[in-house]
Amino acid sequence: MAATTLIPATLIPGDGIGPEIVDAVVAVLDALGAPFAFDTQDAGMAGIEAAGDPLPQATLDSIARTGLALKGPLTTPSGGGYRSVNVRLREAFKLYANVRPARSLIPGGRFENIDLVLLRENLEGYYVAHEHFIPVGDDPKAVAVSQGVTTRIGCERIVRYAFEYAVANGRKKVTLVHKANILKAITGLFLEIGRNIAREYEGRVAVDERIVDACAMQLVMNPWQFDVIVTTNLFGDILSDQIAGLVGGLGMAPGANIGEKAAIFEAVHGSAPDIAGKGIANPLALLMAAGLMLEHVGRQDLAAKLKVAIDRTLNEDRVRTGDLGGKATTRELTAALIARL
Ligand code: NAD
Repeated sequence: MAATTLIPATLIPGDGIGPEIVDAVVAVLDALGAPFAFDTQDAGMAGIEAAGDPLPQATLDSIARTGLALKGPLTTPSGGGYRSVNVRLREAFKLYANVRPARSLIPGGRFENIDLVLLRENLEGYYVAHEHFIPVGDDPKAVAVSQGVTTRIGCERIVRYAFEYAVANGRKKVTLVHKANILKAITGLFLEIGRNIAREYEGRVAVDERIVDACAMQLVMNPWQFDVIVTTNLFGDILSDQIAGLVGGLGMAPGANIGEKAAIFEAVHGSAPDIAGKGIANPLALLMAAGLMLEHVGRQDLAAKLKVAIDRTLNEDRVRTGDLGGKATTRELTAALIARL
C-alpha cells in the first residue's frame, strides 16, 4: 500500500466524557486509515489544571501550526472570569463558517431520510451583540439598542464557502436564507452578494432563496426540499438547532468551525458530567465531526466509508448506546464500528 502523507492536526480530549469519546474516535480513525497525525493538547478544566488557562497558549500555538483541530467538549468553568473558550477560538482563528449537518440516522425520529447541511456565518450580524442601553430620566434601561454589522467581505466568504462546499461534496442546491424584505441593509447585502456569487456556479449548483420565517415553516412542512442552507449568524443560530430537532435533537449533532487560518471540528453536545467516567457515552457526534474533518481535507472517500459504517452499526447490527435506547458501552460501540469498516 502506498504511504499516505500524514496531515498534522491538534487533538483536544476536553473534559467530562471528552477523553472517553476522543479515545473511541481515534481508535475508529486509526482503523479507517485516516491520515491525521495528532498533537494532543489541553483545554477547558484540563487546561486550567495544566496551565491555569482554559485555553493555554500551547494549545493555541498548536492549532496555529496545524490549522486543524478535533476538539472534545469543554466544561465551561463557572466563576473565575474566564471568557468562553469557543468565542476565543472563533476570534483567534477568524472561524467565519459554522457547518451543521443534519442527517436521519435511526428510524423513529421525527423525519426520515433527511440529509441537509446548514452553513452559518459565524463572525458578524446581530449575534455579535454590539449593544447598549440609553437611560431616560431615572430609568437606566429605558431604551435598548443593538447594532448588527454585515460586511461585503464577510458575506462573500460565507456564500462562496457554501457553493464550494456543495461542489466538493456533491450537493445539488444552495438556499440563501435572509430577511431582505425588512432588513434591507444588513441582510439585503447578504442576499445581493449571494445572488451574484450563485451566477458563477450556474450549471453546477442550483440556487434558491427563502425569507427566514418561511424557511422555518418549510423546514417543518417539507424538509426534503433543502440541501445546503446558507445564512447569517443569528438566523443560523436558530435554524441550526431547528434542523437538529428534525433528526432527533442535539445528541448526535456534529459541528465544524471553518476559518481562513484554521478549522475546528467538534460535537455539538457538552461534557456530560452526569455520565463521565462510566464508559457509556455515545461517541457518534464527535465521530461525525471527524467525518467532516475528513471531508475538509478532501478525503470524501473515507468520510463516506465512515458514514456507511455508522449506518450499518446502528441499523443492521443494532448496536446503540443508552442515549439511543440501546445497551452498548462506548467500547462495544467502538468495536462494532471498527468491525464494519
Ligand atoms: P451536555 O450536552 O453535556 O449534556 C446534556 C445531557 O445529554 C446530559 O444528560 C448528558 O448525559 C447527555 N449527553 C450529552 N452528550 C452525550 C453523549 N455523547 N452520550 C450520551 N449522553 C450524552 O450539556 P450540559 O449538561 O448542559 O453541559 C455540561 C457542560 O458542557 C457545561 O459545562 C457546558 O458549559 C459544557 N458545554 C460545552 C460545549 C462545547 O464544548 N462545545 C457545548 C455545550 C455545553
